[in-house]
Amino acid sequence: MAIKRPKGTEDHLPAGSPKLTLDVSAQAHAWVVETARRVLERAGAQRIDTPLFEEADLVKRGVGGSTDIVRKEMFTVYYFGDHGGYILRPEGTASIVRAFLQNGLKQLPSPLKLWTHGPMFRAERQQRGRLRQFHQVDYEVLGGSDALVDAEAIALMVGVVRELGLTGVRVKLGSIGDPEDREAYNLYLRELFTPHLERLSDDSRDRLTRNPMRILDSKSEDDQTLIAQLNVKPMLDFLGEDARANFDAVQGYLRDWGVEFDVDPSIVRGLDYYRRTAWELHHEGVGAKSALGGGGRYDGLAEQIGAQAVPGIGWAFGVERLLIALEAEGRALPAQAGPVVYVAALEDSLVPEAAAAALAARTTVRAEFAYRALKPGNAFRDAERRGALFAGLIGSDEATARSVQLKNLRSAEQFTVLLSDLPAFLHEQEQAHLTLLENA
Ligand code: AMP
Repeated sequence: MAIKRPKGTEDHLPAGSPKLTLDVSAQAHAWVVETARRVLERAGAQRIDTPLFEEADLVKRGVGGSTDIVRKEMFTVYYFGDHGGYILRPEGTASIVRAFLQNGLKQLPSPLKLWTHGPMFRAERQQRGRLRQFHQVDYEVLGGSDALVDAEAIALMVGVVRELGLTGVRVKLGSIGDPEDREAYNLYLRELFTPHLERLSDDSRDRLTRNPMRILDSKSEDDQTLIAQLNVKPMLDFLGEDARANFDAVQGYLRDWGVEFDVDPSIVRGLDYYRRTAWELHHEGVGAKSALGGGGRYDGLAEQIGAQAVPGIGWAFGVERLLIALEAEGRALPAQAGPVVYVAALEDSLVPEAAAAALAARTTVRAEFAYRALKPGNAFRDAERRGALFAGLIGSDEATARSVQLKNLRSAEQFTVLLSDLPAFLHEQEQAHLTLLENA
């Protein structure tokens, strides 16, 4: 039987593939990453890349032993004779914080803004927008704890989706306070849920002892029904003075900058290392339960995985989810530019000349060639199918004169150009064509 790709993975396909949609277009993925790069680098973020697999302990400590990711969704990597398994990274933050600590990045100007992009792996049940290998763009700021850093991070995330042309996005903003606020909240939740122990899912019963706040995150419908019935007070009611002032400051900056958001008391982050600001980015095209992305402050994380305390905040969005949202808004695939020239030989013996002409043209423009001799009509047709601006023909006269016969496929203008002039000529023509398009 023919071998297929693993469940929960996608092939990112080239332009023109049948059934191409935005979320599986390789070009659309690259365009999202390129757009994010532009926006983030304008703000001074620097690219960092970390390995696709990490020590299991980093993932356990960095993501949290009680999370679904660590308990049920880790891909473990073994190789012959190894000491017991690495984990394919399920997210980027823990790796970036590890890299920051391990490589002495603390010595760089602080706060340090970093960004990355790449595949993440979680063995989840596959649905549209929920994959086992998916892709994130990830932004992290290490070394700053001011409300201004938080507001800027949120504004940048919104900036990326705006630059992509996405409009129906909502920021849901919350705060989970300082550790002592969370302690008070957990105490409250424990008292509230303990009398209803028998109605909680097994997972949530476990959470009640370990970390009651995570019950609110539960995917179980019975848990969510109980939560609604109990009229649970939000974490926001438990913010201490400092965390409240910080939350107000973050909102103030966002308002000043015209970044829209809704305060959403249901935003929770159950893990110990989270502090204060937390948010999610939603879009109706992706569905209420699935966020486009999320972010939060994690000042306790560095200590959790290293020796030093370093404040940090970051966000990630899923590239597939973003592309699904763009498709829901009717966004078309970004067009792939065809070659500026498609060169064909008119005789078999001249095919190498056509190849050489295309190779020379590539020093300045996109250029392709036919691998066998073509009649002029077929050469024009093939050039058009590829979206070429020019068709180039080489027959025996051109070969003798060391030239190529060019036809502009839009205007039907013809030119005879010496091979030595070809790169400069085509470059000029392409620029003229682009100017024409811009002014159209
Ligand atoms: P998280 O790291 O869980 O906060 O996820 C951040 C973002 O990554 C989510 O909002 C999604 O856009 C995306 N994401 C997370 N898990 C998946 C998945 N299994 N498949 C596709 N996208 C995902």
